Amino acid sequence: MKKLLSGVKPTGRLHIGNYFGAIKQFVDLQNEYECNFMVADYHSLNFIQDKKEMQELIRDTVISYLAVGLDPEKAVIFKQSDIQAHTELAWIFDTITTMPYLMRAHAYKDAEAKGNEVSVGTFNYPMLMAADILLYDPDVVPVGQDQKQHVEYARDTAEKFNRIYGEAFKLPEALILDDVAVVPGTDGRKMSKSYGNTIPLFATREEIEKAVMSIVTDSTGDRPEYVYNIHKLFRSPAELENLYEEHKGKYKALKEALIEDVDTFIAPLRARRAEIESQGDKVTEVLAQGKEKAKTIAEAKMEKVREFVGVTL
Ligand code: AMP
Repeated sequence: MKKLLSGVKPTGRLHIGNYFGAIKQFVDLQNEYECNFMVADYHSLNFIQDKKEMQELIRDTVISYLAVGLDPEKAVIFKQSDIQAHTELAWIFDTITTMPYLMRAHAYKDAEAKGNEVSVGTFNYPMLMAADILLYDPDVVPVGQDQKQHVEYARDTAEKFNRIYGEAFKLPEALILDDVAVVPGTDGRKMSKSYGNTIPLFATREEIEKAVMSIVTDSTGDRPEYVYNIHKLFRSPAELENLYEEHKGKYKALKEALIEDVDTFIAPLRARRAEIESQGDKVTEVLAQGKEKAKTIAEAKMEKVREFVGVTL
């Protein structure tokens, strides 16, 4: 069986951009691949510096994974901070990586462009992500377009390590679906927690109404493109063609139709989430099980890496 690894940073509520861009592929592929799904909590430390909030976000991410249908009996669901090899390998990668190379990373350039002081953690983010990936020898890493460069960093780093020390790492491929590579938000830009333009994946009916009604209605043509671009996540182009023809120019009616479609899609997810939340401490159980499995894989790889670099005598 081929292998797959991916993850989500627990930095806020998941939105439909995360779902269609990445998480849906996790669910679709869990029967075909040997899967490792990570809660990337150490990456979140670059954004969240509050203990309680961090704990809640980690919990929320695991419950979300389960609610969308990830199965801890089929896939390894684990927390990055539970596996020390991630930070250890990131350090080894730091020693073979140059500053100019990391300065080309989009995440670093964006943070710098905002005029903020950039933390070493943000600067170094691609090396921790390279370690996250390469410890598990995945063939594919399903992600949205915004993570493509980071998977390339992981590949480059694997190549560099292999060249210096010998063949330790497999080169992974990013798995990006063209149609949903960049899911747009309510303002037409990429849907993102940091832009405040999201439709949460487990939104209540009221939240869906509020988000959809706030979609910016660009009146450049007959069709409100920002409404349409979100709508096409839920219906086929043929279905939408009839609907948009029938309601040409009636933006309110089209938004109401979108509210119904989003709610129909989200309602079972909300119900599943409520069911999981009522089942006691499922999160601790899932993470304890995942920790054992992930640790076995990552430690075996890390032991080889230590031998390759010559620190085991
Ligand atoms: P993150 O919050 O960065 O951990 O994102 C989790 C996954 O969702 C990553 O694979 C991202 O590439 C993906 N993602 C986030 N926002 C979007 C979006 N607007 N469209 C498509 N994929 C996205």
